[in-house]
Amino acid sequence: KVEITGLHKFFGENHVLRGVDLTVPAGSVTVLVGPSGSGKSTLLRCINELESIDAGRVRVDGELIGMREVRRNGHVELHALSDRQRAAQRSKIGMVFQRFNLFPHMTAIQNVMEAPVQVRRTPKAEARARGLELLDRVGLADRVDFYPSQLSGGQQQRVAIARALAMDPELMLFDEPTSALDPELVGEVLRVMKDLAASGMTMVVVTHEMGFAREVGDQLVFMDGGAIRESGHPAEVIDNPRDERTRAFLNSVL
Ligand code: ATP
Ligand code: MG
Repeated sequence: KVEITGLHKFFGENHVLRGVDLTVPAGSVTVLVGPSGSGKSTLLRCINELESIDAGRVRVDGELIGMREVRRNGHVELHALSDRQRAAQRSKIGMVFQRFNLFPHMTAIQNVMEAPVQVRRTPKAEARARGLELLDRVGLADRVDFYPSQLSGGQQQRVAIARALAMDPELMLFDEPTSALDPELVGEVLRVMKDLAASGMTMVVVTHEMGFAREVGDQLVFMDGGAIRESGHPAEVIDNPRDERTRAFLNSVL
């Protein structure tokens, strides 16, 4: 479960997130849409601590992101996390980007094993066995020893998903995972994401794939100007947007 309350973010003078409140129930899929510059990526990056927060709270499974709550004499004090605590928190949140971001000098299986071995000190044999399972799950059992340059964009993105899953995340964030792909490769990545959703993963997905939003999403959120303008059940928002800007935006992507 993700709970965001009163979230503000500035880049210098630029007030990029203007009081975002959002709840993503455990095991549900929230699809985030909105025009370029509306703050979608920044919101994802605040959830997994790639960006600091200027005001507000982000909780993932009840745990405050970036801070530690210490109860003292009936008060709750907030303490900054150490780098190690921060890294531990972040390792529970998987993120998949538009660009595949695989390590180019490592094969698919090496990419998937890297974080468990390096960050979590999982024994190599165990990490490899689990990695093979995950690559099988994303349909790449026959590509485990290929380098990223030898894989299509869709295959690379599926390796990236397997790599994120290798850390057993409680939450998966996707930032336009299919928008850099050739059209014929989009479906294979969306299918993997759909399977993941069906397995009960909590997901926040920035995408303009409205078919995916309608079929897989439990909630569709429309952002504009750093704020949430409208949210609701995907079919309802898509078929009957209440907000004028949501309507204009949907017309542009549908
Ligand atoms: P897009 O659909 O183009 O990906 P977005 O909704 O993801 O857009 P963001 O990338 O979150 O939008 O950007 C929101 C605003 O924050 C923009 O005005 C952008 O210029 C600004 N911004 C984003 N990242 C940074 C940064 N690292 N430093 C300064 N400004 C930034
Ligand atoms: Mg973005």
